[in-house]
Amino acid sequence: MLIFFILGLIFGSFLNVVVYRLNLSQSILGRSHCPNCKKKIRWHDNIPVLSFIILSAKCRDCGEKISYKYPLLEVLTGLVFALAGNYFFVFSSPNSWIETAFYLGVFFLLLIIFSYDLSHMEIPMIILWIAMGWIAVFYIFMDWISFNPQGGILSVRIYSGALAGVFAFLIFFALSAGSREKWMGMGDAYLALIVGFIVGWPAIFAALLLSFAIGAAAGVLLIIFGKKTMKSRIPFAPFLVTGTIIAVFLYQALPEIKYLLF
Ligand SMILES: [Zn+2]
Repeated sequence: MLIFFILGLIFGSFLNVVVYRLNLSQSILGRSHCPNCKKKIRWHDNIPVLSFIILSAKCRDCGEKISYKYPLLEVLTGLVFALAGNYFFVFSSPNSWIETAFYLGVFFLLLIIFSYDLSHMEIPMIILWIAMGWIAVFYIFMDWISFNPQGGILSVRIYSGALAGVFAFLIFFALSAGSREKWMGMGDAYLALIVGFIVGWPAIFAALLLSFAIGAAAGVLLIIFGKKTMKSRIPFAPFLVTGTIIAVFLYQALPEIKYLLF
């Protein structure tokens, strides 16, 4: 788990770079520099979380403050990767290596969307396209190596995912079109499609219920603490991503949950 946690910290650091540069349409390759003084960040000042603490949240060159959200996202990615390692990875099983790689990639892309929507109130379509490609490649491969003719159509992940994806898309499309994009944007509908493919049928119900419950709870708390009003726009993707990740772990930890829903 520690190895997966450290891997997550490194990917979390990369995630921050992707979110920052995607917004400015910069290349994701090349060394990072301070957004204020433009000086290149030294390799030893670019260590996830640790550098933030050692530099006491300031740029070494100009003293510009570094946002808390960077180390927080690194730790969050670390935790999600550690849980993925815990629930999916079995050293002696080659199939579990593939399964784990699939979920690490999916969670990484979901967390980019989480962070991007939180900062910029928008879902980057390019990340959704990459997620769709990632899912298609892995599902075709995993369905092929684990095909079970007795399992029924929903044991084929790509069919189960397509059913759940279209179902979730239609709900969000209706919310978005019905409110003229006030409650939900079309970006949320495309994200819901991807979420359906990730969790499949019937886990999509758990993922959506969790997302709406977390969203409602967070909305109430933000209004109580005066950070938002009833009229504020709150991005929904962070809740959808959180609900999805929790649903994936829940189904992996307690497979019996299926029988509760149906
Ligand atoms: Zn600086």
